[in-house]
Amino acid sequence: MHDLVIRGGTVVDGTGAPRFVADVAVDGGIITAMGQISASGREEIDASGKIVAPGFVDIHTHYDGQATWDSEMGPSSWHGVTTVVMGNCGVGFAPAKKDKHDWLIGLMEGVEDIPGTALAEGMKWDWESFPDYLDALERLPRTIDIGTQVPHGALRAFVMGQRGADNEEPTEADIAEMARLVEEGLRAGALGFSTSRTVLHKSIDGELVPGTTATEPELVGIGRAMGKVGHGVFELTTDFLEEWDEFGWMGRLSRETGLPIAFTMLQSPIKQMPWTEQMAAMCNANDNGANLVAAIGLRGIGVIMNWRGTVHPFMRKPSWQKIAGLSWDEQKAKLSDPAFKAAMLAEDNLPPPSPDMAPFFMLVTAAWAMQFPLGDGFSYEPTREESVFGFAQAAGKESAEYA
Ligand SMILES: [Zn+2]
Repeated sequence: MHDLVIRGGTVVDGTGAPRFVADVAVDGGIITAMGQISASGREEIDASGKIVAPGFVDIHTHYDGQATWDSEMGPSSWHGVTTVVMGNCGVGFAPAKKDKHDWLIGLMEGVEDIPGTALAEGMKWDWESFPDYLDALERLPRTIDIGTQVPHGALRAFVMGQRGADNEEPTEADIAEMARLVEEGLRAGALGFSTSRTVLHKSIDGELVPGTTATEPELVGIGRAMGKVGHGVFELTTDFLEEWDEFGWMGRLSRETGLPIAFTMLQSPIKQMPWTEQMAAMCNANDNGANLVAAIGLRGIGVIMNWRGTVHPFMRKPSWQKIAGLSWDEQKAKLSDPAFKAAMLAEDNLPPPSPDMAPFFMLVTAAWAMQFPLGDGFSYEPTREESVFGFAQAAGKESAEYA
């Protein structure tokens, strides 16, 4: 008699081996038999026609707000994820002073497009320090496991106030205090520390996430505190600007502390290094004693664009800017007017608000072969023919007009 027998499922065991049909027995929380199991189980699950697989560990999420009110952690738990790691990209909600709550929500809304209204209504803010936040998380029963990291953006604002939010250089005392709080967070149970180094991550007011332009003394000062504790991952998302020499300081810090440094490895027009060079630089550092880990984005990062969303392909047209503040009914009336449409299509886009945003607006307003209409039955691996560019070509139209 087993505690649990899962019968007749298709086992995908996570080793890369071909899938096979088998029963799985569990005793005391551990898999004790697999194959054809004749003994019965106190609990039996008929899994025929279903996949039986280890739970997925999603190492890059932004559940920091939702985790404080949602036991179920949908939609990740519905998809077979059994552990999520949050506090990535330097954004999160602890440590947090009382007067910074709205600002932290605006930071998350800007970086991740999570509606600020949901966060403001959902979070109780019954914490200030990072350990308090972990206690608040602990009070809620959970369907899946969670782990979190100390986010640089929240930490900087907590220690440096407005100077931190404005990305000013920290003093030595600021760095020492940030390091102390990271150490405190790790000892309380944080999995690591995270920072954002990409122009794509901005608050709702258009400010870079605090810490984006941090220099080596600050990054290493914080990293050394992690070395003192002896555990934790240093996580970052970066554009690999040449002057930042990311692989230089990451290699030095990792060698000194012996701790892993994980960076998001993506191929993108925003990144100043193609993925092949990122991989080569990582391997070179690791051959010299570092422990750098490329967290590979298995699918492209998507942005949902629509007239009423945060971004859309026509947002830099002067005609749109004139009606951007109107109600949707008024906007819709204008957009339905053929003369307005023709005038807008004939216009050039306004220059980006700052030079560092040029690649982003290029993607949003002109990269038609990377934009796909989202309807019922949408393909998550669309071909070029299914892009706005592809459909426009087939229809004999300009991409912008088709869009
Ligand atoms: Zn992220």
